[in-house]
Amino acid sequence: MTLVCRFAPSPNGYLHLGHALSAIEGFETAHRHGGRFLVRIEDIDTARSRDAYVAAIFEDLAWLGLTWETPVMRQSEHFGRYCELASRLKAMGVLYPCFATRAEISAAAADNPAERDPDGAPLYSGLYKYLTASEIARRCECGENYALRIDMEKALEVMRHKLNGEPLTFVEVNPSGEPEIIACRPEIWGDAIIVRKDTPTSYHLAVVADDALQGITLVTRGRDLFQATGLQRLLQVLLELPVPKYVHHRLLMGEDGRKLAKSAGDTSLRELRANGVTAMDIKKALQLV
Ligand code: GLU
Repeated sequence: MTLVCRFAPSPNGYLHLGHALSAIEGFETAHRHGGRFLVRIEDIDTARSRDAYVAAIFEDLAWLGLTWETPVMRQSEHFGRYCELASRLKAMGVLYPCFATRAEISAAAADNPAERDPDGAPLYSGLYKYLTASEIARRCECGENYALRIDMEKALEVMRHKLNGEPLTFVEVNPSGEPEIIACRPEIWGDAIIVRKDTPTSYHLAVVADDALQGITLVTRGRDLFQATGLQRLLQVLLELPVPKYVHHRLLMGEDGRKLAKSAGDTSLRELRANGVTAMDIKKALQLV
């Protein structure tokens, strides 16, 4: 089977060293095994995505010496497909509308500060979980917007049925290339949002939809997404999608010990380039040569 890897950046800022590591890992792993390498632009957040960042991503990756297949998929052109998958989940009875505002969610979380998901967001308290159908209809008629959340308990029930009681797992390929079976714990995400209020999908739904559509066989991404894989595996089971293997690579930390991030203004690849750093210097800094 041909190995298919991808690098899937969100164009809401410039790429930094952490992205370089992810992209090079995917590219080199694919090439070592005579496989294919794809880039996917994850621009579901249309308010924060910018074409200028998309152009900068291609420029930075080319500067690193990477090549990828074209045309490149942009998730914002596939909202219809995500809606179809969400409808399938709805028909299974595992999604429910949630009208809660950010303020309501934070207020509810203040009562239970310990309950957080792996991203540090408050676990959903179930505020609007048990609305009657007529109350939902009334709010919709008033034009109230809502997100769709997964009913984790129901989803796990459907999953158990589909897996015939087998445990939910994924295969992590460790740095020496050995496969390791990892047990998933999707329940740690609680009733996570599957379709956001502001855009017709979520990262988790779009990522499983597209890894399947593009025939990705090995997902290479940072360790920060390790726990997300459990929730994504649950969606794959519910939607009967093919299952890739995973490599969750080490994270690069800033001098202050936190993970590099665009939002924190960490040095971008283009800044490094402007300061005379070469692609080879980057590979050396990442200990890839
Ligand atoms: N778009 C995600 C990000 O930029 C990565 C998604 C993934 O690799 O699964 O963090």
